[in-house]
Amino acid sequence: MTLTFRVNPKPESVGPPVRTPSPSDRSRVAVAACPSYSPGDVQKALQEILQAIGGLSSVIKPGQTVLVKPNLFGDHPPDHAVTTHPELVRQVVLACFDAGAVRVWVGDSPVAITPDERLWTGTGMTAALAGTAADLKSWQVKQSPVKCGDDVLTLPEWFAKVDVVVSLPKLKTHSLTTLTCGLKNVYGMVSGPAKSRFHVKYTSPLTMSGFLVNVFSLIKPQLTIADAVVAMEGNGPAHGQPLPVGVLLGSRDAVALDSVACTALSIQPSSVPMIQMAAAASLGRMNRDEIEAVGSGVSRLQSVSLKPSMARYLSRIPEPLFKLAPRLFRMRPRIKNRFCSKCGACAGICPKKAIQEDGRSGFPAINRSACFDCFCCVESCPNGAIAVQLYLAGFICLSRQRRGKTQK
Ligand code: SF4
Ligand code: SF4
Repeated sequence: MTLTFRVNPKPESVGPPVRTPSPSDRSRVAVAACPSYSPGDVQKALQEILQAIGGLSSVIKPGQTVLVKPNLFGDHPPDHAVTTHPELVRQVVLACFDAGAVRVWVGDSPVAITPDERLWTGTGMTAALAGTAADLKSWQVKQSPVKCGDDVLTLPEWFAKVDVVVSLPKLKTHSLTTLTCGLKNVYGMVSGPAKSRFHVKYTSPLTMSGFLVNVFSLIKPQLTIADAVVAMEGNGPAHGQPLPVGVLLGSRDAVALDSVACTALSIQPSSVPMIQMAAAASLGRMNRDEIEAVGSGVSRLQSVSLKPSMARYLSRIPEPLFKLAPRLFRMRPRIKNRFCSKCGACAGICPKKAIQEDGRSGFPAINRSACFDCFCCVESCPNGAIAVQLYLAGFICLSRQRRGKTQK
């Protein structure tokens, strides 16, 4: 089945000039139906995808070292739909070995400073990879500086030995960049503490998207397979709700894959700055006539509509306001005492020591002047007791993001 984009109200107004490519000039995106994470369903869908993209041997050569890069945002269990499902990771690892990889490494850098064992156990990676020859790789090792646009990133030293990157994003709506899928998954390669720094530096959807595109051009995966069996809608990347979509998407072109994934959000790819910028930089194809979407899951993708995130508000704020007054619009953490168990994890992880126990109530309290909005505390809280809220001028709350166990 060939995909027709559901939302097609007007011609593309941005992006590279529209041309009429030959069929061989198109980027192929495979969309395979995958109704559940049962090993049988995942295996069938993965086979369909690999066949559609020309087989894994077209990506991996015998003797190579492969990094399989899932989204391991934090130590969230698989049913929260924050991270890539371990069954998909396991089966991709096995397929990489079958294709002749001599080493398969699996890893990602979480947002907060999370101990490796907690991350790997919590996300189901340890159990899924037991019995395979894959190694879980840590980011808490010596780093090498890498120039990226005007910034300097650091990547683990072992990354220099990687021949092929297979990216396994989770499809989620995203509070700043509208969606997170193929393009944004590479941002996970930036170490956790540095991610906080870049979130503080790039506060608007446009500036963050430009930065993400630079990171993507630096670490361009050879293959992307997105987990949208259960996606996340609402205020992703961590505080939305799981929504079954029932597909895997795969492509050699992550820009085209994200463009097709926009179908599930009922939006035009050109409305997502990250996709538009990546296409304009010739990192992949965005326009409908340059993409061939095929597979048993196309109609399923067209039938869902993920609820948008607060990015719909942020995208209406004129960019000059972000430039002139970067502190005018701020996303800030807020502790909800009714969900808090006073475990102290947030205070322990805060890099600025901005969270201290209130002497009278015993609940944690955030020192606003010390906090630099890195959201490490949000991700560290086991009870979902810390919300992210969008404020105007630091005190008028524009958007509330509910947290708590019941929202997960
Ligand atoms: S209180 Fe502020 S600085 Fe501390 S972890 Fe939370 S967001 Fe980061
Ligand atoms: S991590 Fe969450 S539950 Fe623990 S003290 Fe902080 S807000 Fe409360």
